Amino acid sequence: MKVILYFYLQNKSKTNQDKYKTNMKHSEIVILGAGVGGLTTAIALQQKGFENICIYERRKTASTIGAGLVLWANANKILDKLNLLTEVEKVGGKLKEMQRWNESEEFLGAISINDINTIIGSTSYSISRIDFQKILLQKAEELNIPIYYNHKASLLSDQGNRTSITFENSIKINADIIIGADGRMNSVARQYVNGNNTPIYQNFVNWIGIVESDKPIFLENNVLDFWGYGERFGIVSINKYKGYWAGGKSLPLNSSHKNRNSKTQLLKIFGSWSPKIREIIQLTTEENIKYIEVFDHNPIPKWHKNNVCLIGDSAHSALPTSGQGACQAIEDAWHFASILEKSETTEGAFSKFQKIRFEKTTIITMAGRDLAKSLFNEDLIFCEQRNENAKTTNYKTASQNIAKLWSKDLPK
Ligand SMILES: Cc1cc2nc3c(=O)[nH]c(=O)nc-3n(C[C@H](O)[C@H](O)[C@H](O)COP(=O)(O)OP(=O)(O)OC[C@H]3O[C@@H](n4cnc5c(N)ncnc54)[C@H](O)[C@@H]3O)c2cc1C
Repeated sequence: MKVILYFYLQNKSKTNQDKYKTNMKHSEIVILGAGVGGLTTAIALQQKGFENICIYERRKTASTIGAGLVLWANANKILDKLNLLTEVEKVGGKLKEMQRWNESEEFLGAISINDINTIIGSTSYSISRIDFQKILLQKAEELNIPIYYNHKASLLSDQGNRTSITFENSIKINADIIIGADGRMNSVARQYVNGNNTPIYQNFVNWIGIVESDKPIFLENNVLDFWGYGERFGIVSINKYKGYWAGGKSLPLNSSHKNRNSKTQLLKIFGSWSPKIREIIQLTTEENIKYIEVFDHNPIPKWHKNNVCLIGDSAHSALPTSGQGACQAIEDAWHFASILEKSETTEGAFSKFQKIRFEKTTIITMAGRDLAKSLFNEDLIFCEQRNENAKTTNYKTASQNIAKLWSKDLPK
């Protein structure tokens, strides 16, 4: 009897496995979060032939917040594969060089973005967040990927060996695969998979802004990075007339700066650094400036549980100083879809995905922290030494090292 039962169970499980294998592309896939990671993953999966994908997003409509971001050559290699690069090229700014200056406009050296591009084999573009979001949403629409706004997930819970999502509006759903792309700060998917969900404040804030003028105010193709003492100001051009910037300062959480007029404070802190900075702050309207307290996470050891897998910032949230958060979310999308397409089980796919992505994203997270620690250090002697080191850096080698890390595991 025992033997019959054994063979019955063996055959039953084999039949189920076969059924699962052939049905993988028909799996119902729910993505939590319509940010860069969620949207690019949906697009990548759809292009690989997965049929039943939908996205649930907490916001009432598509997000229009944020200033801009750099899509580095590594991300653009993937965006090309996803047929999105042509659209990025139309509105993005080609970047060639990242110059470093101290706060009294002494030149500290320049990283050649051209060199990084050549090694990786693509181009780096600056782009406004709104433009990039539009490109992703348009592609999602073309591919008939539904996005359900106004659905804030409040809880993921076990249902046997699967997982259900409960939303704040009391709707409860299940799916074959759940992708947690719900970002850095309060990811319910990370809470479910990993238990701990507490982000770490990295002791600095960023004011970010975007500005467009009818006179040429930006140095085309360039990123300008000014380093002070516990303060930093970065300017990224999209074209001569349009660009975005970030002013960073070492500050405790909930500092009194939070609720004050941003322009007045920015001019007080950075106004004397360079006429260019002063001009750009003055031209930015107050409603286009946002104050952000900056957090990250320690490397997250577990990216999946049952049928839930984390991607993007919910799996690895690097600081803005890494320059790679969105780029890594885009790389995740490509790897996740490529691995799932070739896998027989979700468990196997998820663990392979984490295995491929963990090391690169961890190194990038740690590099972002190291740079932040150096840039937001307030010690005079440390900063002077740091700037001297910058002047003597071999930038050719620096660009090569950056490119080597960023090109890891990219498709040909
Ligand atoms: C100042 C600044 C500058 C940056 N510059 C760059 C740059 O130049 N280059 C770069 O590559 N990266 C940059 N980044 C990082 C980049 O913005 C993030 O890494 C990237 O947006 C991560 O994408 P994501 O989809 O994982 O998360 P997000 O973009 O945060 O998207 C998460 C989505 O999930 C939704 N959501 C959250 N919780 C729930 C819930 N409970 N239920 C349903 N939906 C939910 C959110 O509303 C959001 O739409 C920068 C970040 C900052 C702060």
